[in-house]
Formats: sequence, structure tokens, C-alpha cells
Amino acid sequence: MNKSNQQQSLVIIKPDGVQRSLIGEIVKRYERVGLKLLAMKMVIPTIQQARQHYSSDPQWVVKKGQSIIEKFKAQGKTTSLTDQQLGQNILDTLIKYITSGPVVVMVWQGTNAIKLIRKITGGTEPLTSDVGTIRGDYTLDSYQNADMDNRSVRNLVHASGSPEEAQTEIALWFKPEEILKYRLIAEQILYDINLDGILE
Ligand code: ADP
Repeated sequence: MNKSNQQQSLVIIKPDGVQRSLIGEIVKRYERVGLKLLAMKMVIPTIQQARQHYSSDPQWVVKKGQSIIEKFKAQGKTTSLTDQQLGQNILDTLIKYITSGPVVVMVWQGTNAIKLIRKITGGTEPLTSDVGTIRGDYTLDSYQNADMDNRSVRNLVHASGSPEEAQTEIALWFKPEEILKYRLIAEQILYDINLDGILE
């Protein structure tokens, strides 16, 4: 069995996903591609948990602020705020969003799980994320609407951006014994080299 490049990813169904009754639909998307669910729980995140979660990349605030300034420039707009202030504002709205109600936190595993899950999840903004992705198919928010109300873009799901980020995030949400180790029968067909286990 060639199970090379196995990765784990932390996925959160955000409060809007739970409120829209999309837990089953979202889980199905990751399940049907062949990923293995290692852990799952429903929680109401505390502000501290949310802060820790979004600080796993220390550069996030500045990078986010820079991307907003770039977006402004492209639209011919200016701002008196710094990248740090703009990024911090997004982070504050994001913490309000993620702590607003119950969420479902999961650990998924599979070959290239990080990239695969980001593909299935879709781009950050639902308005422009691809049809066929979770964010593209199940919701409609845009940066414009979010900016107007000074809130976070509601896009149903969080998914880890890199294997390193995933490990930090998994450790934040789960105890080691909550990550289950088991064999999934489907892995035989997904990863078996010779397909020699089928015929009787
Ligand atoms: P992703 O969740 O696609 O990895 P980011 O890590 O860049 O995206 O951002 C985290 C979350 O912050 C997004 O999922 C979205 O809810 C919110 N967000 C990101 N950028 C913006 C923005 N410019 N305006 C409002 N909300 C944003």
C-alpha cells in the first residue's frame, strides 16, 4: 500500500454552517473523496480559543492587511489605516464570527489532505469561489457585503493552510487521545498498489 504524503488537516464548520443545517452536506464532501475522519466534536469556541486559533500564523494580521491595501489600490481607493490596523480589524471581526455559536471541529487525514481539502472547500470569498466547492455551492457572501457591515466574510468552513498550521491547530482543539487511529476499509482501494485484494 503506497500511502505516501499522508497529511492531516483541521477543519471547522463555522457557526453559519451549523445554523444553515449544512453539517451533513459539508462532512459528505470530505468523506466521499476518500479522506479519513480521525476526530470530530461540537463546541462553542471561547474568545481565547479563537484568538489562539487565528494566531497560529504570526504573520497573518500583517499579510491580511497588506492584501486589503493591494485590493484598495486596484480599486483606486486609499486608506489612512496601516496594514497592521486593517489586519487586526479583520481578526477582531473573525473572532466575533467564530465565537457566535456552536461549531464542528474535525481532523481529516489522507494523501495531500491539505491541498485536497482547500480545493473542496473553495476560495475565501463565496461570491468568487468556484462552483462545485463548498463555499461556492452553499453560500453567497462577498467582501463587499462584509466590508459594508464591518464583519467577517461568512464562508461556512475553516481548513488548515499548511501541514505545520494543521499540527498547531489540531493540538489546540484536540487532546492526543481524541485523534483516533484506525484502518478504513476504503484505503485498500485508494492506496493499494496492485489491486490484488478484490478477487476471491
Ligand atoms: P481562508 O479561510 O480561506 O484560509 P484567510 O485565512 O485569509 O482565509 O482568512 C480567514 C477568514 O477570515 C476567512 O475564512 C474569512 O471568514 C475572513 N476573512 C478573510 N479575509 C477577509 C476580508 N478581507 N474581509 C472580511 N473577512 C475576511
